[in-house]
Amino acid sequence: MKLIVETLIQETLQKEKKNLFSFLTGAGISSESGLPTYRGNDGIWIKGTKYHQPEEFGTFRYFSQNQEEVWQYNLFWKKLIEEAQPNTGHFAIAEIEKILKNQFQLITQNVDGLHHRAGSQKIFEIHGNKQSVRCSSGCNGVLPMPSELKSKELTEDLTEKDLDLLRCQDCGDWLRPNTLWFDESYNEKLYFLNSTLRAAKKTGILFIIGTSGATTLPQIIAEKVLQYGGYLVEINTEENSYFFERFSRTKKYMLIREKASDGLIKIKEMIEKYT
Ligand SMILES: [Zn+2]
Repeated sequence: MKLIVETLIQETLQKEKKNLFSFLTGAGISSESGLPTYRGNDGIWIKGTKYHQPEEFGTFRYFSQNQEEVWQYNLFWKKLIEEAQPNTGHFAIAEIEKILKNQFQLITQNVDGLHHRAGSQKIFEIHGNKQSVRCSSGCNGVLPMPSELKSKELTEDLTEKDLDLLRCQDCGDWLRPNTLWFDESYNEKLYFLNSTLRAAKKTGILFIIGTSGATTLPQIIAEKVLQYGGYLVEINTEENSYFFERFSRTKKYMLIREKASDGLIKIKEMIEKYT
C-alpha cells in the first residue's frame, strides 16, 4: 500500500491539472493533543452534558433556550483549547503546506484552531471555530471572541461581566459561538461550502485524517474528488469510517493504517522525496 500511495503522490506532483493535495481533518487529529473527540468513548459531550446527545445539545434550538449553559460549556472548551498544544500531525500538515504552496489545501472540521497555531495558512474551517463569535440574531459579521472573556471550569457559573460581554453591541441579543450546529446548514459565507467544493474538483489526492465522516460536507467533498478523477487516501488505524464503508471497494481509495501523526509524517516524507 505504501508503494502505491508513494507512486500516486509522485504522479500527482507532476500533473498540471487536478494536482491539488487536499487534507481533510477531524477531531481525531486533535485527540493526540489531548482534546476529547465528540463521539469517542472519552467524548466531551458525555463528560459535559450527561443528559444530552450531541445532536440535541449542539443545536441552535438548544442554544436559544439555554444560552447560559451553552456559553458555560463553550468557555470550558476554551480552557481545554488553551491548554492543548498542536501535535506532530498538525505540524506535519503545516510543513507539507510550505513544500506544496499553491498545490495545497486544508479543510478541517475542527473548531479548536490548532492548525492555525501549528502554522497552517490555507484553511477552510468548515464547521467554524471557537475563537470567534457572532450575533445570534445575525446583525453583524464574525467577531473575535471578546478578549476579556475568560475560560472556565466546567462547573463555574458565568459572572455579570461575562453576561455583558456576551451581548451583541448593536442589538443587545446574545452572541453565539461561530460554529456550525447540528440543526444548521452549510453556507459559503461562514463555512466555505462553495470554496471547498471547487477545491474538491481540482484535487488529485484527498487525504482524510481523524474523521469518521459523520457530517455531510466531508462526504460530498470525497464524492466530488472521485467524480472529478482524484483519489482518496485515508489515515486510520481502523476500518470504521464512512469513507472506508463507502469507498474501500473502489480502486481510488487507499487506507494507511497508522495513527494520524505517524501517517502524516510518512506522507510528508514521501512528498519531500519527490519535490
Ligand atoms: Zn446583534
